[in-house]
Amino acid sequence: MGELIPIHPDVEAFLKREQKLLIGGQWAAAASGATFETLNPATGQPLTVCAAGDAEDIDRAVQAAQRAFPAWAALMPNQRERLLHRFADLMEAHKTELAQLEVLDNGKPWNAAYNVEVHVAINQMRYYAGFPTKLTGETYAISSPDFHVYSVRQPLGVCGAITPWNYSLVMAAQKIGPALAAGNTLILKPAEQTPLTAIRLAELALEAGIPEGVFNVVTGFGETAGAALTQHHGVAKIAFTGSTEVGKRIVGASAGNLKHVSLELGGKSPLIIFDDADIHAASQAALWAIFANSGQNCVAGSRLYVQRSIYDTVQSALAAAACALKVGYGLDTSTQLGPLISQTQLDRVLGYIEAGKRDGAALIAGGSRIGGDLAGGYFMQPTIFADAADDSLIAAEEIFGPVLTMFAFDNEEEVVQRANASRFGLAAGVYTNNLSRAHRLARTLNAGVVWINTYDWFDPAVPFGGMGESGYGRELGRQVMEMYTELKSVWVKL
Ligand code: ADP
Ligand code: MG
Repeated sequence: MGELIPIHPDVEAFLKREQKLLIGGQWAAAASGATFETLNPATGQPLTVCAAGDAEDIDRAVQAAQRAFPAWAALMPNQRERLLHRFADLMEAHKTELAQLEVLDNGKPWNAAYNVEVHVAINQMRYYAGFPTKLTGETYAISSPDFHVYSVRQPLGVCGAITPWNYSLVMAAQKIGPALAAGNTLILKPAEQTPLTAIRLAELALEAGIPEGVFNVVTGFGETAGAALTQHHGVAKIAFTGSTEVGKRIVGASAGNLKHVSLELGGKSPLIIFDDADIHAASQAALWAIFANSGQNCVAGSRLYVQRSIYDTVQSALAAAACALKVGYGLDTSTQLGPLISQTQLDRVLGYIEAGKRDGAALIAGGSRIGGDLAGGYFMQPTIFADAADDSLIAAEEIFGPVLTMFAFDNEEEVVQRANASRFGLAAGVYTNNLSRAHRLARTLNAGVVWINTYDWFDPAVPFGGMGESGYGRELGRQVMEMYTELKSVWVKL
């Protein structure tokens, strides 16, 4: 055991309350009165009770967001900027509290919550806080002397954000920031497994002075609250991060009023290590590419391709390193990996492990649930498979857990072809010291992001998103502002 971080008194007080929805600046129970418990996945015990919003609450939230929209869109850009900066400042001031709530609700280790999750969310909020004063249109060199033609960027109206449980705050911030900066109003439907930091964010937004109805939070389930948001004709855009399966359903639901949709979905990302690479650095990267956040990561490097001459060396290094990882409670500072999010997720992941064994892959590390002191939570051993067939389930499907499948390859052409033989295209990594090869692969790999001699880096300035069934649209960067605005052309006869 390392040092155990004591729970902040404000977190204790927060958990004792019954959580509500924030609609139009008012805290309210669900119209139906329904509630649900959110659990601590490290213990399986309930943390607190939340309101289970459904279609009626979503409708109320859309109306509130519609009422708030004209004034918010008309607010001077420097005033919107000031409010968003204040929001980011309050997130910073309450960083410990937000990180602890996420550790309790999601299970992730303290360092990952405080120094990654909350830290990144604040940086994203600051990055987008600066955008209201930087939005511009264009003038056009048309082939006629009689006109002045220009464009303006205008907000879309009411937007909906639907977020997953693996990076609750980061996924929320990268939607709230650009949506509000562009002058839209927003309804956030957080994942039912991790609703708490969204509720705390809503309180901070109110405290920051963001006008009522501009930012609304409706907690509840995907099939009810989430689906109602995607179907509502008063919603102009849905920004979704989650599974490919639900992403497809959202595209269908969006057809009713042709709302804009951006989708960050699943992945089965390849990490490729060539024999000319720094093998130690590459093995370390491969370890964290898959096991960070216990593998519950859309960009998880879940397919590892290692050139045959160094395959055995990398395999033994990885197996030893995986077994040495410390799995445990998030508030224990020595913990490196937390639990999976739920019993359902644990069962899914264990099901894939059984499938891997059945299909004849070699289990070289882990493979089981962790019992003993950790038996109450959804803890799993970091797991590695070797010698799986390329078309087997564990080699092709997103497992979303701490399960790596590794393969040997012989040459560049072959590995590119195998890496690209996936319906997903979110991320890819390449370890090589051959400069030409690095750039060749960056060009040919089917992925929205390619990391060379590194893995899993993000910055608010750098666009992120997928190809194929990993989704469409990009988040982050300045380009995302185009996804939260309409471009209007204006013709003036001179
Ligand atoms: P995961 O499998 O990782 O939990 P999901 O795609 O199921 O990912 O969930 C991501 C988010 O999508 C959650 O907020 C969830 O409530 C929401 N969601 C699930 N089903 C639907 C749906 N049919 N319509 C809209 N949102 C949904
Ligand atoms: Mg929870």
